Amino acid sequence: MTVVDRSHTAYPSACGRCGGELAPSCDPLEFEVEGTLVEVPGLEHGVCTRCGEEYLSLEVAGRLQREAARLADRECIRSERERGSS
Ligand SMILES: [Zn+2]
Repeated sequence: MTVVDRSHTAYPSACGRCGGELAPSCDPLEFEVEGTLVEVPGLEHGVCTRCGEEYLSLEVAGRLQREAARLADRECIRSERERGSS
């Protein structure tokens, strides 16, 4: 996953790794929060059609972090309820 520090575009037009073409995508992005891997759906980003590297703008990366933290929080609360530790 690559975060692109550009304000005028969400991601570059070519992959920085392999030079492949980037396609826009809103597929769920995986993000690890304190050892918990969460999937955050609905964030627009670029994906290399050749190697699959994901490109995020700074703004989207920030949203990904916040959403992932929120979702991970919910996971924690739910698993504690499932253990019945009330
Ligand atoms: Zn690539």
